[in-house]
Amino acid sequence: MNSSIPLRGGMIGCGFFAQFHIEGWRRMPEVELAAAVDPDLERARKAAPRAYATAEEMLDAERLDFVDIATRPDSHVALVRLAASRKVAVICQKPMAPGWADAVGMVEAAEAAGIPFMIHENWRWQPWYRALKNLIGRGEIGQPIDYWFHTRRNDGGGPTPYPHQPYFAGMPRLLIYETLVHHIDTARFLFGDLAAIYAQVRRRNPLIAGEDQALLMLTHAGISGIIDGHRFLDPEPDGPVMGEATVEGEAGVLRVLGTGDIYRGSEKIWPNDIQEGYRGDSVRATQRHFVECLRTGGPFESGGREYLKTFRAVEAAYESIAESRAIPL
Ligand code: NAD
Repeated sequence: MNSSIPLRGGMIGCGFFAQFHIEGWRRMPEVELAAAVDPDLERARKAAPRAYATAEEMLDAERLDFVDIATRPDSHVALVRLAASRKVAVICQKPMAPGWADAVGMVEAAEAAGIPFMIHENWRWQPWYRALKNLIGRGEIGQPIDYWFHTRRNDGGGPTPYPHQPYFAGMPRLLIYETLVHHIDTARFLFGDLAAIYAQVRRRNPLIAGEDQALLMLTHAGISGIIDGHRFLDPEPDGPVMGEATVEGEAGVLRVLGTGDIYRGSEKIWPNDIQEGYRGDSVRATQRHFVECLRTGGPFESGGREYLKTFRAVEAAYESIAESRAIPL
């Protein structure tokens, strides 16, 4: 693709989280957000110069290089199939789909049509995790032994939990499917593919449908880790990380605090100075990666086929809960 001409993108879904996408695209001169879709047309009008009520209408009327799907997962497979039928590249929010068959179906549809297809997985693009990977790679703590992610936020309690995303309350699979999927993917980014996963969950808020507390034990080649999540307490210190992370190695410990700063023991060895955008400007970093790969033809870190490994681990976590055993991957 000619790199001097901005890529023309179309937003599909302009709800809560799409606002971070739209804001990210607007700060990228290499992209022109040409059009947007939402059944709530007012939302689409605020997002882009031309607004449509359906993705079909937008794809009929516009010549686009890609679409950015930021709807909830139940509509993803149909929208990916539609874009594939029009040979338009896709970046699509996580979770991929409500179930495994649809997740595989969307990857196969994209592959059959030959369109570039990436899942918008922004967690691994948080700059402190990029820095952590570099620090581990250059031997800062020697051979890694284990890791913990503690994910926290105090918005899960009471009669009206999750005020930004109130529909969470009705989701039969909640914390792992919606939130800890990010940490599973980040663990894959840092420590490689998974060999097994074991999960235990609770529902602390009796007014919701799904699980809102979870402990996951993950096994990779040569290292194991724990992801421990709930949304009943704010992290201390609070900040853009939504919790904290620790990696122990044979020669020391690295700790990512809630502020995004990284400590080796008591020494701050990587200060986080990124305050703009969503959680370390990770949405924009994800979008930049997508555009760079479209331009160069390079592989996406979270291409559809590759990201099925993360989604499979989520499915396996629920199998683990149902069967009270570790599930090999
Ligand atoms: P939301 O309900 O606030 O927004 C969805 C929007 O899509 C609504 O405006 C709705 O009218 C529109 N819509 C529904 N069906 C459509 C269709 N067929 N075509 C076009 N528009 C349609 O949802 P949300 O909370 O913004 O979540 C959207 C996605 O973003 C979810 O998959 C969620 O997991 C993800 N998300 C990701 C992160 C992250 O950090 N990566 C954070 C929050 C949410």
